[in-house]
Amino acid sequence: MLNKIIAEESIQKAKKLIDKNDKIVIVTHVSPDGDAIGSSLALYHFLTELGKQVNVIVPNEFPRFLNWMVDAGEIILGDRSPEIAQETIEAAELIFCLDFNDLKRISQLESIVREAHGKKVMIDHHPSPENFCDLTISHPEISSTSELIFRFICRMGMFEYVDKPCAECIYAGMMTDTGAFTYNSNSPAIYYIIGELLEKGINKDDIHSKVYDSCSKYRVRLQGFILHEKMQLFEEYKTSLITLSLEEHKKFNPQKGDTEGFVNIPLSIENIVFSAFIREEKDMVRLSFRSRGNFPANQFAGEIFNGGGHLNASGGEFYGNLEDAIALFKAALPRYKHLLI
Ligand code: 5GP
Ligand code: MN
Repeated sequence: MLNKIIAEESIQKAKKLIDKNDKIVIVTHVSPDGDAIGSSLALYHFLTELGKQVNVIVPNEFPRFLNWMVDAGEIILGDRSPEIAQETIEAAELIFCLDFNDLKRISQLESIVREAHGKKVMIDHHPSPENFCDLTISHPEISSTSELIFRFICRMGMFEYVDKPCAECIYAGMMTDTGAFTYNSNSPAIYYIIGELLEKGINKDDIHSKVYDSCSKYRVRLQGFILHEKMQLFEEYKTSLITLSLEEHKKFNPQKGDTEGFVNIPLSIENIVFSAFIREEKDMVRLSFRSRGNFPANQFAGEIFNGGGHLNASGGEFYGNLEDAIALFKAALPRYKHLLI
């Protein structure tokens, strides 16, 4: 049996909202990852099984290694179809906000969702949720939003409405937010849930393969390049830094999501506890941070780059050039030395 994490009052409130409303929109964060798309499509499949009219809307493109999820092709991309996204959000009676804690995280959809008339429900696992929803289900102690979706459905007593595509999406989200169950994954509940998902007919080995063994040859070559040419180690700070300019990336046929996971690799080096990946995008610089143990990657991201996230996985944005972002990163390290060593 699963321990009860979500408050009973929240479950009852959410159940009523689902019963009463038919037009439902699910939104998730910009540059959606496996957990964002997995939790959103899982909830979509569940609500569709209930006979609801459901749309998943994301601010921008998601990595192609998630395309195999059933109905991934139905997801509305806010940057490609801004009018449809806006009209659909405005027409929704109920809006689920999944895998983000602050409306800033949905980029250009922020004001549309903020002003939308539909009731809003957040289901998320990032610390310090912004108070913009009618119902906030926030559990930073849970390693993925997809796990929360499983718990949410079960607690409503509707596990029978979890079909195989829904179970596949939940599994994929749980898997990607724990690095295939290599971090944040010591809770026995995770393996109980996986057992339940297997009973629904998922093939976990196949899902792992679809997500992790579908790299283009360009990505694998890019990985070789960044590790050989672009990784700097600051051993006195137990820190690694990888940087990538647009010019460098261009040589490797850039695709959405093709740098995902690179930031984790330097943590496999003995004595490295903090890893940063700073990459230039069209009009800005994006940063990803990972840490081992107690080093607060989210605090670093928040204080230095106005970002956030979890203790061991965080990110931020920098509006300036790549060199300035790198200089800011390097200059900040001495201030965190006491936490790094
Ligand atoms: P990633 O490195 O995979 O892009 O991001 C890791 C985690 O950091 C995400 O799951 C998210 O929680 C957080 N994150 C990434 N970028 C940002 C950002 O710009 N702002 C905030 N608040 N969190 C971010
Ligand atoms: Mn997540």
